[in-house]
Amino acid sequence: MGPPVELTRAVHHRRGRSTELHLALLSARGDLLVVRRPQEAETWPGFAALPCCPLELESLSPSAIGQAGSEPDSQGHEHLHAGVAAVARSLARAVVDGDLRTAPALVCRLRFPPLAPVRTEVVLVEARLAGAPKPRAGQWIMPATLWQQWSSALALLDPAVLEYLRLTVLSDKSRLHVPCGRSRLEPPCWSVRPELWVLPLRTVTIPPASRTNTYLVGRNPVAVIDPGTRFPGHRRRLAKALDALQSRRTPVTILLTHHHDDHVGAVQWLRRRWPATVMALPETASPLSGRIPIDRLLEDGDRIPAGNRELVCVRTPGHAPGHACFFDPEDGSLFAGDMVAGLGTVVIDPRDGSLSDYLESLQRLQSLNPALLLPAHGPPIGAARSRLKAYIAHRHDRNREILAVLEGGPLSAEAVAERVYRGLPFTIRRLGARSVLAHLAYLLEQGVVVRDGRRFALAPGDRAGDPSRG
Ligand SMILES: [Zn+2]
Repeated sequence: MGPPVELTRAVHHRRGRSTELHLALLSARGDLLVVRRPQEAETWPGFAALPCCPLELESLSPSAIGQAGSEPDSQGHEHLHAGVAAVARSLARAVVDGDLRTAPALVCRLRFPPLAPVRTEVVLVEARLAGAPKPRAGQWIMPATLWQQWSSALALLDPAVLEYLRLTVLSDKSRLHVPCGRSRLEPPCWSVRPELWVLPLRTVTIPPASRTNTYLVGRNPVAVIDPGTRFPGHRRRLAKALDALQSRRTPVTILLTHHHDDHVGAVQWLRRRWPATVMALPETASPLSGRIPIDRLLEDGDRIPAGNRELVCVRTPGHAPGHACFFDPEDGSLFAGDMVAGLGTVVIDPRDGSLSDYLESLQRLQSLNPALLLPAHGPPIGAARSRLKAYIAHRHDRNREILAVLEGGPLSAEAVAERVYRGLPFTIRRLGARSVLAHLAYLLEQGVVVRDGRRFALAPGDRAGDPSRG
C-alpha cells in the first residue's frame, strides 16, 4: 500500500531531466500539507515533501509549455496556464477531498541539486482550500512550525519544501521571481540541514554516479568533507560556495573519508587557496603519502569542531582500510563516505576492501542510530536505520546466493559472477566479479567455502552453513 500520490518516479525524462509539479496546499487557516517520501524512494527518502506528480509538459498545450516549462508569462508568477492549473487541481483532489478556494498559482521554479542522473525541475504552485479536510496521506502543519522544526534539526525537508518556507515564512522576497535562465537557478550550494550544505561535484567515479558530494559543515571554520573534483569548472563552484560562507583568510578543515581519488582530487588545489588543515586516518594517509600530506592523523572517537557542530570520527574500514565516517551526535547526521550510496552500489573490491570489515562497520553505524545518512554519491537518505539494515541484509543475501551457486560444484570466481550477475551489463558484471571475490574471501574466512587453486567449493560437511548469522 503506497501513498496515493506518485512521489518518486518521474515519467517525463527529457534529456535526463524530469519536470515535477509540487503543490503547496494550504488549509483555510493556513496550515500546509506535507507528506513523507517513501523509504524506498530514489531521491530524498524519508524526507518531508509537498504532494507532487510528474508534469508531462508534452501532453499540455504549447502555450502551457511556454509558461510552465521555460519562462513565466508576462503577468509574472500569478497566472498559471490552464493545463498546469488542471494538473495542480487533480493533484489536490488526489490528496484531499475539498474545494479549492483559490486557483493554483505559480510560486517559483527551482531545480533539485544534481545528486541523481536525472535532474528534477520543479514547478512549485500554491493553492488554498475552503476547509482542512483529512488528507489521504501526510499531515497539516503550520509553515512557521515546520520551519522551526527544520531550524532545530527536528525535521528533514526536501529542497522544494525548504524553498517554499524560505519564500513564505522568511518572506525572502529576493527568492521570488527567480529568473528562469538555467544557470541562475543554481545556488552555490544546497542546504540539507542548518549549517550543512551539499555540493555534488563532477569526478571520475563508478557509474551511474558521475559526481562526488562535497559536504560543507559550519562556518569559521567550515569543514570540507571529501573535496574530490579535478574539473576546473567544478573547483570554481567549490571556491564560490566557500567564499559565500567565510573569508579567504579563515582556515578550513578538510576531512577525508578515504584515499580514493574521487574523494581527494581537490585537496591540494584547495590548500593553495585557503589556510587548511587536512585530517584523515593513518590508513588513508599512507597511500596518499608523497602526493597529499595529512596535517592531522585522526583516531577513532576524535572530535573535530565545525562551526557550531562537533563531528566525531568513526573508523569504518571495509570499502577501504582507512575509511572513516563523521558523525554529529547532536542531530544524528552521519557523513557516510562510501559506506552507503544514495546512487548505485558500494563496491567492495578485495584489492583494498574487506567484506567482513565492511559488515562490522555497517553494524557499528547502526549502533550509532543515525537520523540522516549523507553518502558521498547520490542524495541524502533520511530513512537511515532501515537503509543500513537493508545494506546488511543485501550482503547476507548475496552470500547465500553464492553458496547456492556452489551447491552445483566447484567453480572459479568468474564463473560464480557470471551466474550471479547473469543478464546485467558488462560494466556491472566486471565490478560484480570483484565483489564476488570479496564475498568468496569472506566465506573462506567463515570456513564455509574452501579454495582449490582458482576454484571455490562448499566446505565439506558444512553444506547448511549459514554465515549470515554471525
Ligand atoms: Zn571509494
